[in-house]
Amino acid sequence: MNDIPWNINACITCAEYVGPYVFEEDMVCANCQQKPPLCKTTICALNYLAPIDGLMNKFKHERNLAAGRLLTGCLCQAVMEAIMQGRITMPQLLIPVPLNSLRLRKRGFNQAQFIAKGLSHLLNVNVNTRLCKRKGYQVPQQSQTRWQRQSSLRGVFQVKKSEVNRGTNHIAIIDDVMTTGATTQALSQSLVKAWNGPLEIQVWCIARTQSFNTKLDW
Ligand SMILES: [Zn+2]
Repeated sequence: MNDIPWNINACITCAEYVGPYVFEEDMVCANCQQKPPLCKTTICALNYLAPIDGLMNKFKHERNLAAGRLLTGCLCQAVMEAIMQGRITMPQLLIPVPLNSLRLRKRGFNQAQFIAKGLSHLLNVNVNTRLCKRKGYQVPQQSQTRWQRQSSLRGVFQVKKSEVNRGTNHIAIIDDVMTTGATTQALSQSLVKAWNGPLEIQVWCIARTQSFNTKLDW
């Protein structure tokens, strides 16, 4: 699997691998067909497997910013490819998934914010780091099912209405690793509620865990 790019046999909505015998463009997985998430397109640069998981750990837990820049560059390339192939258009605003204050203090920085700022610089698109807050502390999600994750994330994200720009109706949520998509779905729900108007949401993430290998280190 390691050498298969994310966009081969992956769902266009959630980037889940639906593979290996399906060869279709614009494919949507069974989960997304049954219950379409608020985000219509996920751009994911890499699979969360070696050596990417190791680099991601160095970036997140050891604050290795060179690893962070390298991974951000990979995501930037995947986004530019998707734009050139006409699969997506450039959003007006990047919104990093916020960390709660406890985890932020422990880690010292928000990795999604680092990625979003890098992409903002590389792609010349605005980023807003003040728009969303994450309250409370959720237990690490690695052993939870999609449903458990979704219910534990209900109401976790707060969106500052004063930061909502009425002229903006196309955004991308930025995350480091996507597992079930429950986090980005919960954030999307809060954003849609705060926007109170048309809002097109993409998700851009560096790596995707796949159901055949859901090992995830938080
Ligand atoms: Zn899907």
